[in-house]
Amino acid sequence: MTATILNGRVAAREIREEVGAQVEALVSAGGRPPGLVAVLVGDDPASQVYVGSKKRASEKAGLIGRVIDMGADTTQDELESLIDELNRDDTVDGILVQLPLPDGLDTESILSRVDPAKDVDGFHPQSVGKLWLGQEAFAPATPSGIIALLQRNEIELTGMNAVIVGRSNIVGKPMAGLLLKQHCTVTLAHSRTRDLPAVCRGADLLIAAIGLPAFFGADHVRPGAVVVDVGINRVRDASEVSRLFPGDEARAAQYQTKGYVIVGDVDYNAVAPIAGAITPVPGGVGPLTVAMLLANTLKASKARQGLE
Ligand code: NDP
Repeated sequence: MTATILNGRVAAREIREEVGAQVEALVSAGGRPPGLVAVLVGDDPASQVYVGSKKRASEKAGLIGRVIDMGADTTQDELESLIDELNRDDTVDGILVQLPLPDGLDTESILSRVDPAKDVDGFHPQSVGKLWLGQEAFAPATPSGIIALLQRNEIELTGMNAVIVGRSNIVGKPMAGLLLKQHCTVTLAHSRTRDLPAVCRGADLLIAAIGLPAFFGADHVRPGAVVVDVGINRVRDASEVSRLFPGDEARAAQYQTKGYVIVGDVDYNAVAPIAGAITPVPGGVGPLTVAMLLANTLKASKARQGLE
């Protein structure tokens, strides 16, 4: 068996185009273009790349994208005042605080300060609670992107045994809530789970979200299972790159240029021959995250403008 590749770039492009068309319709009906503000604190290079790509994607889809860049020495009070100001600003429909925040800032209290009506990241306790109560709410972008990817590939979720490995607030836990809503039987596994390979082999749908490169191999996957790889890891060791991707010239070239290769949590070459479907890394889950953020901002804007 060779797995069907679940192409996140195609699904993300479709979603971005759909958002773009709806923004155009909103504006021609006299509405205001949705506004998304990303708050960046400190100088984490990966965070800078992420907010930059969120701003560019927003603008391409016709939203007003803005990045507020706060220095690494920003205090809790300063950040809270900024959130209050954005909450009051009528042109702002979505507020996202790029995580992780520098040490010394209280992430939970900042996320709780965002107006739930503008909580397009879905991290406010009210959004989290509503998701688990089965009420309409903003769901975090990465897990909702995974649902969109599976649905767009016509994977029937009802009744599936879904095993999610990783119980973070941004991926694993909301993923469990969303899959439950889709009528899956959900197992949420983590670092203390006993006999993880056996638990994973019970999955019709395996979601790998732990942040360890190529951790999941053939012994974790039941033949025919759908495998979703959320991990984004940088492998800098040349021998590990050639072990994971023997004869892969594109990856060897990437390693030569950048000094690392992006690898998921799943050992793709070991798992693809037995899985029924699989997401590649890169080009699987990653692109969906930004697309779903735009979709959430459009939804927030329509609701705030009384158009839904
Ligand atoms: P966290 O570090 O917050 O959580 C990791 C989770 O994995 C924890 O629940 C931990 O268990 C579990 N874990 C760690 N080691 C093991 C192990 N050996 N066996 C079983 N479980 C283990 O990670 P995130 O959820 O933030 O991210 C996970 C991965 O997804 C990362 O590679 C990240 O880069 C990527 N990511 C990708 C996104 C995308 O857009 N594609 C978006 C967000 C994240 P415990 O709770 O017991 O410690």
